Amino acid sequence: MKRNKILASVSTVALALGALATFGGNHVDAATKSITPALPYRYKTDTAYFLDKSTSAHYKGVWNSATNAWKKNGFAWKAAANHSKTTLSSYSDNSASGLNVAGYDKVQYNKTTGKIISSEVRLNRAVFKKYRYNTAEQTNVAEHELGHALGLDHNSKGSVSVMNPANRYYSIQGCDVKGMKKIYSTVASFDSVSENAGDIVTVVNYTPTVKSAVTAVKTSYNAKTKSLTIAGKAKGASKVAVSYNAKALKPVKVTKKGKFKTAVKFTGYKDFTLTGLNAKGKAVTKAYVLTKDNYAAAKPTLLKADRTKKGLTFTTDAKKKTTLKFYYKNKLVKKAKLTKDKQKVFFSAKSLKGKKGNFKVVASAAGKKSSQAAQFKIIGVGQATVTNY
Ligand SMILES: [Zn+2]
Repeated sequence: MKRNKILASVSTVALALGALATFGGNHVDAATKSITPALPYRYKTDTAYFLDKSTSAHYKGVWNSATNAWKKNGFAWKAAANHSKTTLSSYSDNSASGLNVAGYDKVQYNKTTGKIISSEVRLNRAVFKKYRYNTAEQTNVAEHELGHALGLDHNSKGSVSVMNPANRYYSIQGCDVKGMKKIYSTVASFDSVSENAGDIVTVVNYTPTVKSAVTAVKTSYNAKTKSLTIAGKAKGASKVAVSYNAKALKPVKVTKKGKFKTAVKFTGYKDFTLTGLNAKGKAVTKAYVLTKDNYAAAKPTLLKADRTKKGLTFTTDAKKKTTLKFYYKNKLVKKAKLTKDKQKVFFSAKSLKGKKGNFKVVASAAGKKSSQAAQFKIIGVGQATVTNY
């Protein structure tokens, strides 16, 4: 078999805002609740003190950014001088189970009144290091834990909210501010209810680790330029390494929104691999493999051929909206646009006159590279072939 080769180097296509929409729409996550829901506990008012127990300047900075972000949005976190029922700190757990948790908030509260007794808000340094959370992403996790601390529950799975259950990429959003304001639209009257030791409960809200990954990959093939446009998301990566048939091409930049897009000229039907890299060029994601099944039309398989005096009927496994092109001695003799799956293609006796051997059959579909060629035998009158799969 002829060796496939890259015709030209990769060219990065400028990423216009929303350009991905032209590839059949963006990946849409579950709906975000417009008001992030509440947990059964809270502080008395929208002002709460905290004690930052961090010893490093880096984590003091992370907590400072996260508490300030809430302050800007109307919840006044204030640093306490030497004691507070709310403590902020980090830890390092790199055990297999520990690495599943990026942060947590352990809250003790009175289940009758909802009054917070104590709150330990913590971040796992081992996760940030191993999965390369940048400072902004670490701050997002800190804002999430502080959201739990002040009484916010999770928004929906996949939501655009700092309270996304597995948050890494979102800072405080409008829905989160609305949720916080709803809780603190009233002042709690903790003092009017007597404390009962039996009412005190402890809950721990864990935030799972989010590993970087190449996702939502879409392709579009341009037959005129023989180039494949590949677009997707690579959150947590600054570049995407692209290879075709195990040969490395030029890496593609990832935008601030975590998107990438590139166009590659190539021949053949080999695999592409896409791997997210950090700024230093080190892999931060698993390789995403793009095969011919993703970017090319499927090679048509002959299910049945039947020839009578009237002509020859082929039945293939091709799906509707596929175009089958029949070539005889490299000349296009029929183009059949299928309007349903497994649609029959008929050749009249007249059109078959003098033809013997095989038709070469290629499938094509919108946005896809044409399939590899199949050979359909031109059988004689009275013959039939059936292939059962
Ligand atoms: Zn959470």
